[in-house]
Amino acid sequence: MPRTKSLATLIQNYGNDRIFKPRANKIPTVYKILNREVFNNRLKKPFITIRRIHGALGLFEFNPYATKYCYKITLHNKFRNFQEFVEILGHEMVHYYQKLVLKQNSAKHNKEFYNFKKKFKKIGLELKRIYR
Ligand SMILES: [Zn+2]
Repeated sequence: MPRTKSLATLIQNYGNDRIFKPRANKIPTVYKILNREVFNNRLKKPFITIRRIHGALGLFEFNPYATKYCYKITLHNKFRNFQEFVEILGHEMVHYYQKLVLKQNSAKHNKEFYNFKKKFKKIGLELKRIYR
């Protein structure tokens, strides 16, 4: 069985018509799959928080002066469905990759960002700038 099956199966199991509220203990599983399937395990474990965000579903922040976590991903507390959650987490992970691996100063929706579009498609995910 191809390893990508696991993510597709997860998404299928959750269905598309169920609101998904991420919980901190559920995130590492999805993070690990994305890191393996999309980023060749090049990403490290970041600091991920969940909270209600206005006007966005996810954020990636880099703070070189942080005492503990320089890289931080913030996720909205409510998603349309599980797939949307996975896509947003993946989107923020691209920004993380841009910073950590490509050493880009500002993680923007540039050519390097969209280079991941194909890899996302391959595992059934969309990579967009804005999701809704
Ligand atoms: Zn973005």
